[in-house]
Amino acid sequence: MAEVLVYVDHVDGAVRKPTLELLTLARRIGEPVAVALGGGAADTAATLAEHGTVKVLTHDAAEYAEYLVVPKVDALQVAYERVSPAAVLVPSSAEGKEIAARLALRIGSGIITDAIDLEAGDEGPVATQSVFAASFVTKSRVSKGTPVITVKPNSAAVEAAPAAGTVEALAVSFSEKATGTKITGRTARESTGRPELTEAAIVLSGGRGVGGAENFALIETLADSLGAAVGASRAAVDAGWYPHTNQVGQTGKSVSPQLYIASGISGAIQHRAGMQTSKTIVAINKDAEAPIFDLVDYGVVGDLFEVVPQLTEEIKARKG
Ligand SMILES: Cc1cc2nc3c(=O)[nH]c(=O)nc-3n(C[C@H](O)[C@H](O)[C@H](O)COP(=O)(O)OP(=O)(O)OC[C@H]3O[C@@H](n4cnc5c(N)ncnc54)[C@H](O)[C@@H]3O)c2cc1C
Repeated sequence: MAEVLVYVDHVDGAVRKPTLELLTLARRIGEPVAVALGGGAADTAATLAEHGTVKVLTHDAAEYAEYLVVPKVDALQVAYERVSPAAVLVPSSAEGKEIAARLALRIGSGIITDAIDLEAGDEGPVATQSVFAASFVTKSRVSKGTPVITVKPNSAAVEAAPAAGTVEALAVSFSEKATGTKITGRTARESTGRPELTEAAIVLSGGRGVGGAENFALIETLADSLGAAVGASRAAVDAGWYPHTNQVGQTGKSVSPQLYIASGISGAIQHRAGMQTSKTIVAINKDAEAPIFDLVDYGVVGDLFEVVPQLTEEIKARKG
């Protein structure tokens, strides 16, 4: 069976969920071979094996933490040359897309970014993308070289599928370009305790209808009752009610959770662009004519200041 190279996104050996989702998709195409780099790389092996990885190629060096993406691209290229895979899959983060694009250029391959699904095809894997502000769904296939494909978080379910997960060390010598851009400082973001917006299974967003920074506490309380991340429309962000890092949309983050609840958001095309691929969409808006209701699975016409607290109470009551 053909091998499929999967680039592992991990934090000190803890594998992030989008990588486990990639393994589900990789198994549709072939046998997953993972590439884990940096501190704790070898610690990823047990989790990767539980999710179908036959081999884990690892390498640790200070360069991965000290310089921007090129050392990782060098290592992924070494892995690619060693495995000759049927495809290379990378999580669709900003860093993942840069790594994937650089690799594709180096190996002369076509690339597909931000896939939301992947299936085996007679002439290579077929990727589904949601394009033009989610107005169209396209299917494409790389027609030149080994397909390099980045996949958005929440595109597949995480499935256990025990496999060998044999760890093998990768011998990497870095290119001259590897040390071209040095990381000069890191400031940890203050943790909210909530999941990362782009990876969360549930996202609750507030818009101009929330009416003020202090009222976002309503959205946050509901989010916490569901273990959800909190997003915001640009109007709410521009008003200074919520941080820009939480903006959902064309000029913010793109999210694709299982459940997206929009409160006090009208549904402008630029907002839709960042959330329209969500599996189930719910809107709470007091204007029955708001365009957001055109794309929802469930709509509540009502004042969010009445609906959101009731919803929070109901969820808490049901959770006991
Ligand atoms: C180049 C460009 C890029 C952009 N990028 C983005 C982007 O990334 N993300 C983004 O979100 N926008 C983006 N925008 C802005 C976008 O066009 C809209 O202006 C914005 O999304 C509107 O935000 P909103 O829905 O919160 O506000 P509004 O459009 O003002 O809607 C507020 C809604 O709240 C409802 N409401 C009010 N009070 C209540 C209440 N008490 N209870 C229930 N409902 C209530 C109203 O009925 C209304 O529908 C961009 C615009 C441009 C030009």
